[in-house]
Amino acid sequence: MAEQVGEQVGAQAGGSRAELSSRLNWLRAAVLGANDGVVSTAGILTGVAGAAGSRTALLAAGVAGLLAGAMSMAAGEYVSVSTQRDTERAALARERRELAEDPEGELDELTDYYRGSGLADGLAREVATALTERDALAAHAQTELGIDPDVLTNPWEAALASAAAFTLGALVPLLAVLLPPESWRLVVTVVAVVAALTLSGWASARLGGAGPARAVLRNVVGGLLAMAVTYSGGVLLDQVTG
Ligand SMILES: [Zn+2]
Repeated sequence: MAEQVGEQVGAQAGGSRAELSSRLNWLRAAVLGANDGVVSTAGILTGVAGAAGSRTALLAAGVAGLLAGAMSMAAGEYVSVSTQRDTERAALARERRELAEDPEGELDELTDYYRGSGLADGLAREVATALTERDALAAHAQTELGIDPDVLTNPWEAALASAAAFTLGALVPLLAVLLPPESWRLVVTVVAVVAALTLSGWASARLGGAGPARAVLRNVVGGLLAMAVTYSGGVLLDQVTG
């Protein structure tokens, strides 16, 4: 019985929640990465278009921007996830040491946690004992650190995912600027960017549990502002150098 309760409480407190929150974090990071790809590539392209750049110049600038952005996202994500993983590993090592040096104190600690989350004294002790027998380190990692020791985030995976998300976003303005005839270039790009930013703003609001209307508006206005700034910069540059 205590074994069963322990399994259930353990799963609820740690496993599924940690899994869900890590999946949400991934999705959120992907949406943000794609959003970044849309805004920065659209900004670069409208800047080059404002400076009356040729189709070749647009292609070169767009592809360079896409590659630079994807690499920068990957490197940033790699560093940040590696640091996080080092921190988690150090915390797990500390927890492992405490379990070896003071198993009684650690059992008390776990019991206190379950008492604090609302279980009666006796049951809290039973649950803590059952979880400790099953996998003491996992129980402490989940309750104290909120992590599952078996699924630490892989920095290479995170780097690849954010580079892919950025690339996907960057392709929207890149294709929108290159595919249509020249006279339609700017209109199609603006429409495609607004549509993409509406989608990513909506998705990130939903993932964060917020109302989507304001998030969409902020996101679209931000993107349009970026395009307006780089377009003006391009026009200005063209007049100065032209
Ligand atoms: Zn502990």
